[in-house]
Amino acid sequence: MKYLSTRDRALRVGGAEAVKLGLSRDGGLLTPESIPQIDGGFLESLAGASYQERAARVMALYLTDYTEEELLAFANNAYGPDKYDHSAAAPLRKVDGSTHCLELWHGPTSAFKDMALQMLPQLLSAALRKTGEDKTVCILVATSGDTGKAAMEGFADVPQTKIMVFYPKDGVSKVQEAQMVTQDGKNVGVCAVKGNFDDAQAGVKRIFSDEGIRETLAGRGYLLSSANSINWGRILPQVVYYVSAYCDLLRDGEIRMGDKVNFCVPTGNFGDILAAYYAKRMGLPVGKLICASNKNDVLTDFLRTGVYDKNRPFHTTMSPSMDILVSSNLERLLFHLSGENDAEVRGYMEALGKDGRYEVSETIKAALKERFWGGFCGEAGTMETIARYYKEHGYLIDTHTAVAAGVLEQYRAETGDKTPTVFVSTASPYKFCDHVLRAIGQEPEGDGVELLEQLNAVSGVAVPRRLAALKGKERRFDLTAEKAEMDNVVLEFLK
Ligand SMILES: *Cc1c(COP(=O)(O)O)cnc(C)c1O
Repeated sequence: MKYLSTRDRALRVGGAEAVKLGLSRDGGLLTPESIPQIDGGFLESLAGASYQERAARVMALYLTDYTEEELLAFANNAYGPDKYDHSAAAPLRKVDGSTHCLELWHGPTSAFKDMALQMLPQLLSAALRKTGEDKTVCILVATSGDTGKAAMEGFADVPQTKIMVFYPKDGVSKVQEAQMVTQDGKNVGVCAVKGNFDDAQAGVKRIFSDEGIRETLAGRGYLLSSANSINWGRILPQVVYYVSAYCDLLRDGEIRMGDKVNFCVPTGNFGDILAAYYAKRMGLPVGKLICASNKNDVLTDFLRTGVYDKNRPFHTTMSPSMDILVSSNLERLLFHLSGENDAEVRGYMEALGKDGRYEVSETIKAALKERFWGGFCGEAGTMETIARYYKEHGYLIDTHTAVAAGVLEQYRAETGDKTPTVFVSTASPYKFCDHVLRAIGQEPEGDGVELLEQLNAVSGVAVPRRLAALKGKERRFDLTAEKAEMDNVVLEFLK
């Protein structure tokens, strides 16, 4: 299987190369040239399998330059009991007869980013071997909280890699900051940036595109790469859990083979829901893909009108990992829906760069309408949904998950669709204690990790063990930099 740039089909690389590069050199996203097909027999054979086996079987369809044995070994490392506190890794929780919640936060950092970032470092290490690369890869990450921690946890002490994370100084939750500055590992670095997430992100992009820095680093034996969801090695492990959820529903007798299932996904960069789209294209019986946004509703408008327009205010919300105006992975969807038309995609991306806006063709509009439904849930709706789930179902959900649950209700009210639906839970409620406590009628007493105990005392839900262990963990990193100094921080880190 080859991977093509969404902006130039003539640029083709193998799977290992795609994982190593992260991004195509023309700025496009590396995307599979064809989509492997699965059938009922495939799904039946996975219904009794472990999550790790499912992961190896699904990923092997795309990464044809890795063996299934290799991928199974990676999956065992990624999702085993020393990393995941649930033997199913991505368990389904039944909410009512036709509603199920896919919990993706049982990994080491309590956010769904672990599902991919426990796998990516292993794919990347193997890719370095397979492509004969002798340089050390340095992963640069700008994070609004979840990605940075999950990437460090995945890359900590992985040979031939280093990782540097930049986060906005006052832009992450107290728990998220505590998670990052206490990170173990000899090859990790963390730096707070005086500015917001966009400043951190712009700084990282500047470093990536600076030929001078790249040359200096190459001379020192380093190569820069990305752990952002533009890397195919992040999307593919996410395809697995949609297939896995279907297999669980089959195994538990909730559906029969061939029955359609909808997925409702809390969306930011469009990586998670794109993975669901791939699962549908592979032949998994999926009905609608429901794209749930928070107050930053650029995707809702896009799915309804076919016009993507980022010229609008940026809102800081209680679901910060979805506060985003440019959803990078949409580019891969446009590539597929345009019939793999690279010139058309290039046109949209140029318009986005120039005017911050583009309008897709009638063909794409029709294709979007058939497969997707977009909705958003504001701050008050998010709080109400957390409260209602807690009261009516005894189920404590985080702010991001609540956006999905809230939008699912709107979808059902508006369309009357009764198809069994899985909504995706992307973070543990313990990562956002203050908002969750308020939503269930409690006044937060204290700050940061102190609130873990309060939420535990009120709800009786167990605190994830690594979050509980943050209390008293030694702070290892204290670096703060102006945004203009980020280049020097990297050069110093890679001395
Ligand atoms: C990253 C993240 C999202 C958004 O996922 P995308 O793949 O960027 O759409 C949603 N919820 C949480 C908790 C996240 O960390």
